[in-house]
Amino acid sequence: MQQTILLLQENEPKAAVIQELLHRSKRKRFAIEWLRSCDTALERLTNGTQEDVAAILVDLGSAEGLPLEVFDRIHAAAPHAPILVLSDPEHEAVAEQAVRRGAQDYILDTQLDGYSLLKAVHNMIERAAIAEASFVERERAQVTLNSIGDAVISTDVAGYVTYLNRVAETMTGWSAAEALGRSFSDVFQVTNGAGAEHTTNPIALAMQENKTVGLAVGAMLIRRDGHQTAIEDSTAPIHDRRGQVTGAVIVFHDVTQAHEMSQRMSHLAHHDYLTDLPNRLLFNDRLAQAMAAARRHGERLAVLFVDVDRFKHVNDSLGHAIGDRLLLCVAERLAASVRSADTVSRQGGDEFVILLSTIAHAEDAAVSAIKVLTALRLPHRIGEHVLQITLSIGIAVYPEDGSDAESLVKHADIAMLNAKNTGRNNYQFFRSGMSEHALERQSLESGLRHALDQREFVLYYQPKIDLETEAVTGAEALIRWRQPGRGMVLPEMFIPIAEQCGYIVQIGRWVLREACRQAKRWQDTDLIPMPVAINVSAVELRSPGFVHGVRTILSETGLNPRYVEFELTETALMQDPASTIAVLQALKDMGARLTLDDFGTGYSSLSYLKRFPIDALKIDKSFVQGLCTNAGDANIVSAVINMGKSFGLKVIAEGVETRAQFLRLQAQQCTEGQGFYFHEPVAANEFAKLLGPDLSTTVGA
Ligand code: C2E
Ligand code: CA
Ligand code: CA
Repeated sequence: MQQTILLLQENEPKAAVIQELLHRSKRKRFAIEWLRSCDTALERLTNGTQEDVAAILVDLGSAEGLPLEVFDRIHAAAPHAPILVLSDPEHEAVAEQAVRRGAQDYILDTQLDGYSLLKAVHNMIERAAIAEASFVERERAQVTLNSIGDAVISTDVAGYVTYLNRVAETMTGWSAAEALGRSFSDVFQVTNGAGAEHTTNPIALAMQENKTVGLAVGAMLIRRDGHQTAIEDSTAPIHDRRGQVTGAVIVFHDVTQAHEMSQRMSHLAHHDYLTDLPNRLLFNDRLAQAMAAARRHGERLAVLFVDVDRFKHVNDSLGHAIGDRLLLCVAERLAASVRSADTVSRQGGDEFVILLSTIAHAEDAAVSAIKVLTALRLPHRIGEHVLQITLSIGIAVYPEDGSDAESLVKHADIAMLNAKNTGRNNYQFFRSGMSEHALERQSLESGLRHALDQREFVLYYQPKIDLETEAVTGAEALIRWRQPGRGMVLPEMFIPIAEQCGYIVQIGRWVLREACRQAKRWQDTDLIPMPVAINVSAVELRSPGFVHGVRTILSETGLNPRYVEFELTETALMQDPASTIAVLQALKDMGARLTLDDFGTGYSSLSYLKRFPIDALKIDKSFVQGLCTNAGDANIVSAVINMGKSFGLKVIAEGVETRAQFLRLQAQQCTEGQGFYFHEPVAANEFAKLLGPDLSTTVGA
């Protein structure tokens, strides 16, 4: 756009001269609009565009009306346009006044040669451009400072406020108008959060040290009305071009939310989500502190390990929601039955640990334990349920029962397990004799709880061998537990625990289903049909619905019952002979076969033996092992083989490890053998390799 100079000049010849002079400009060509009167000029400015107006020349010497009033009106109509006043020497005072009121400059008629006029016009336009640019710059800074989320305050070198953005106004409670020119420390009051004492003035510090500084963590800004806000700041000195400090600027923001968030996070990390009690982490921390204090003052403290008796039963029968509410109720009562200085924590599940931070005697811990037992025995009302629970509590006392937090808690845990073993609903002090075996057992027990769901069990198969032909006659299914982190666990480790906890019934059902399915699969792939032997423990045998379960699994898997053998121990049969016989008969009626396992180790009564509908005897491996070295064992083995013959039973020797044992058994006409000498128990796919193809079906086909 071409730039225009407006020339307000009533005197026509003068106007011609000036136009002529302006046209001489070599630097820049301007369009010149000559306006004869103030009114035309105002008309031009208010109705036409102003964007192209680079400058206005006003001759005040000869303008109609009061010359200054003319200037004011023009200036008001075009506030951003630079104005050069032309004047004759008599009116110089008026020209000077115009400059004071906003004109850029004035020039007298007497100086009006082309050079001076052009120079004055050019300088004026340039100055206006610079002023415009710095205005834009300042405006941009202003908008930026007002739109950022941080508060900004700047001061001069004496510490008086020179600027305050909107956020700073809100946060300090001072408006910019009130704050400007005030001492910074009036406007910005801060404490260190811990106490009421005022911390050092960050502005003064930044200027004094001539570097960026920050308030200590936890600083609180006190608003004018007393309200406090947690803030974080950064304060820097401001320098002039020569590097001299001319003031400082502080930028700060509200960290209340971040603060609350971090406190919330730390709370979550240290508390149990369900009960909001301290968790293991926080408890261990407090215990370590309490132990350090007790050590310094030569005092005692106690740890109570609390476990809800049969909680699993509540969870299983009423559901987790009720279980959780019961735990909440337990947590509340526990907290209410100890002193406020003590710590009640939840370690997970139904286990709570209490720290009694100072006790005079060990007996004080017993008193607390009794209080807790009594308080928790009262009925818990949860929804429509009224639940009655008891606790088992183990107590360990510092310094007697452990010198570090970990061993103290562990010993309280062992004592708690002891309380469980002595009938629950009681407390026990730790005694050094209490074995860590109890802990091991506990860990197996809790692992077993999920082993089935997590598919941690596998079946191995050990072949039974016909001692005459050395052919494979069947397989015994033997369970293995692949416990993560522990490796292969042998049944002797966990079967007794599974029996005590009642898990054995479900595990046994799984074993039966898996073994039947496997036997059927082998048959379906045209391998010689093999009976599979399954171990059944006394608990399973007596569990209600056992026979029904067997029947269901057999029909479900489609395995012919004559390929199933149950191995039962003598002790299992002797526990309740009358009802056992009925169960055995039902299994026999289905077509399954029965073997008496571990024969010789129990209190076998021959008269009973006759009454049980069994098909085979399995000589216990302890006798087979002594067969060639111990005359007593050798006698027992021959006696069992002969007894089997006379009852018309098959006799199987288990635990055959050597060729000598094999030959001896063969010579005595023992029917079958099983043991490492032939094969160790192997996985199902390994076992399949031992089975030949079923020639009878091949031939028949
Ligand atoms: P068991 O019924 O007497 O099983 C035979 C045990 O002898 C097996 O131990 C087997 O691996 C081992 N064995 C085999 N050949 C030899 C040998 O030549 N020498 C020696 N020293 N041992 C041999 P495993 O598998 O550790 O099973 C131990 C016991 O756990 C079994 O004794 C059985 O009573 C029980 N069991 C195994 N699986 C199950 C199951 O699925 N259910 C139930 N209720 N009990 C099971
Ligand atoms: Ca067995
Ligand atoms: Ca056995």
